[in-house]
Amino acid sequence: MDKLLIIDDLWISYYKDGKKAYAIRGLNLEVDYNQIVGIVGESGSGKSTLGHAIVGLLPSNSKVEKGRILFEGTDLTKINRRDFYKFRGKNAIFMIFQDPMSSLNPTMKIYDQLREVIQGKHSSNEDFSLTRWFLGNIRKDIIIENKDIIEALKKVGFKNPKEILVKYPHQLSGGERQRIMIAMAYLLKPKLLIADEPTTALDVVTQAQVLKMLLELKDEYKTSIIFISHDITLVSQISDRILVMYGGILMEDGSSEEILKNPLNPYTKGLISSLPIYFKGEGRISPIPGFPPNIFNLPAGCPFHPRCSSNMSICKSQMPKIKKIGESHYVACHLYG
Ligand code: ATP
Ligand code: SF4
Ligand code: MG
Repeated sequence: MDKLLIIDDLWISYYKDGKKAYAIRGLNLEVDYNQIVGIVGESGSGKSTLGHAIVGLLPSNSKVEKGRILFEGTDLTKINRRDFYKFRGKNAIFMIFQDPMSSLNPTMKIYDQLREVIQGKHSSNEDFSLTRWFLGNIRKDIIIENKDIIEALKKVGFKNPKEILVKYPHQLSGGERQRIMIAMAYLLKPKLLIADEPTTALDVVTQAQVLKMLLELKDEYKTSIIFISHDITLVSQISDRILVMYGGILMEDGSSEEILKNPLNPYTKGLISSLPIYFKGEGRISPIPGFPPNIFNLPAGCPFHPRCSSNMSICKSQMPKIKKIGESHYVACHLYG
């Protein structure tokens, strides 16, 4: 079957203080229709950079150096941001950004912002508006009425949606803004939703409700989702597949079941065994020692080697390549092959 999204050997750099560093290095990723792919990794592993690259919103000091991002066969890296709108109707990607304040227009009430996107109008101020996170047209089979907006806001836990709609973004809390974005995704029902840490500012009950909404989107509207989080427990609750990133490279890729039951890369093992519910070893649960690297000061070889208790001399000089280990299970680590 054709894939919805194929990312092929993607390299993305940032420039800072006259220096160039890579946040994504040779990443490959495929998303099927009607599939939830979870992306996990600690802070700085390149998760948001990947999401921004897909929606064409990398900051000005960033560049796709190499590779392709094929969405239904169209290479998004070759399209100028302004031209994304020519693809209306064909493409439909929505991203829930990690910091929802910067994706909402501070001078517009929530209702007006929602209607702007729903009516397919693209804001006069594209640099600072909800519309820029939506590439595409509303699906023809979907008619969004005011009652649907109210219903979606109720689903994300707003008891009095009408009161929320007349507010400006600064009058809402971070969690409320995040819920607006999730409600928006629910209304738009895009072919691909990129949800970047969508539940970080939410309480446990709302978090569970949001995960349910995302599953509903997948089951009822066939939306494929890239769910980004540093929390592998959360990711495993809804993802069909999990990709583990570290230092801009893919460390492991497999079905959720396989990743949780049979993690191979020491980094994946570390992420899992530091969680109380998955810990199977003896003694105390301990987090992975040390900190993730700064991309401007990446270690040579495997980026995880300074923190890896299984490291070998080859790990210090050669970056491991991703290899197929089992049926839909891939790992980048010198311990294998
Ligand atoms: P987090 O979990 O903290 O959100 P992440 O996995 O989303 O992390 P990214 O935000 O993609 O990570 O950042 C990847 C790397 O790129 C980090 O080392 C970060 O410091 C660097 N980076 C991100 N944005 C910029 C920027 N605008 N300029 C320079 N470096 C940047
Ligand atoms: Fe550890 Fe080496 Fe595997 Fe990297 S390649 S995870 S350093 S064993
Ligand atoms: Mg991020």
